[in-house]
Amino acid sequence: MTGAEELDARDPLAGFRERFVHSRPERVYVDGNSLGRLPRAAAEELAARVGEWGDRLVSAWPDWIDLPREVGDLIARAALGARPGEVVVSDSTTVNLYKLASAALAARAGAIVSDRDNFPTDRYVLEGLAEQHGRELRLFAADEVEGPTAADVERACHGGAALVSLSHVAYRSGAVADMAAITEVARAAGALVVWDLSHSAGSVEVELHRCGADLAVGCTYKYLCGGPGAPAFLYVREELQERLRSPIWGWFGQREQFAMGPRYDPEPGIARFLAGTPPILDLTAVRAGVELVEEAGIAAIAAKGRALTSYAVELADEWLAPLGFELGSPRDPERRGAHVSLRHADAWRVNRALIERAQVVPDFRGPDSIRFGYPPLYTSFADVREAFDRLRKLIALGAHRDLDPRPTRVT
Ligand SMILES: *Cc1c(COP(=O)(O)O)cnc(C)c1O
Repeated sequence: MTGAEELDARDPLAGFRERFVHSRPERVYVDGNSLGRLPRAAAEELAARVGEWGDRLVSAWPDWIDLPREVGDLIARAALGARPGEVVVSDSTTVNLYKLASAALAARAGAIVSDRDNFPTDRYVLEGLAEQHGRELRLFAADEVEGPTAADVERACHGGAALVSLSHVAYRSGAVADMAAITEVARAAGALVVWDLSHSAGSVEVELHRCGADLAVGCTYKYLCGGPGAPAFLYVREELQERLRSPIWGWFGQREQFAMGPRYDPEPGIARFLAGTPPILDLTAVRAGVELVEEAGIAAIAAKGRALTSYAVELADEWLAPLGFELGSPRDPERRGAHVSLRHADAWRVNRALIERAQVVPDFRGPDSIRFGYPPLYTSFADVREAFDRLRKLIALGAHRDLDPRPTRVT
């Protein structure tokens, strides 16, 4: 096995690590797939924006008001393989999923299809929409490790469907779904697909245009490093924009917004999916994060992600399998995002012990997985090794055994 030092020495993205804040060098942070590190540029640009707020007040709005579209176009080209005018940044992923799924249901008749292991907020939003629109919700069972396949979707859409909603990279296993094949079978069944790209954007190549994808949403605070609670993005294929309507008729989606007209008349383009006043400070931070992704290039980022997870799998096989850990992610690197899950009978306590006693920060995802995220822009191969080295030592000492087995408020 090639050592971490050699892999780091050969890493073309190694220089990006210093572009982020590392305030505690002894901590091994492997949870950037939950909340990405702070880019140094974001801290500087936020300070400048705060100054602008104090100084220019409302007169700065002409410079601020198009940020949802500008940052949307930046994400589209840097991370999503989408065209200009197809992405905006607004609201949360949850709200954007609601908006796009709702628009799809208004346009198509039939059932809602998703998988049982999809991210909770996605399932809850779909459950609510099924009730509000009087639709059947079909949740199919996909392979826990390999994720949903086109054959699963085809079977679940049997007899026709209105909407398919899936994660492109599964939040627990990290499995990558076949976007092109699933889009095709869903379309043949009459359905529109909303992709959740929360664990894909900034970690793997996403080719929305090439795959003919209709709709997508995703987070900016994970691999795009936009900061806690940063607004999400949404994508609507250009050809569909005029045919779909947001369920929230807000003034930021209105044609000639400041004409203050008597009736709602939505913008023809992507802006119709905006609702209210955009969060300018957050958008400033999101832009700084995505600019780093653009500068590094998503192909290089994705290639490093596969190398990092492959190294992690090799180490896990050698060091951790004998200690009762089982890989909960696909073995084929092409089928993985930039995180891996390890399953263990005592995963909750082992995860707490890593955080509290070993300064390693992964996260626990029930019922039995510990997730190790390796955002390629700032994760080194040495981080991957160090996290697992501390983990095996902790198990050898039994340092997790006396911890409280009850989960905390945030896992
Ligand atoms: C993180 C994540 C979300 C989070 O949604 P919020 O509205 O930002 O809380 C949604 N979907 C997936 C798949 C995620 O991984």
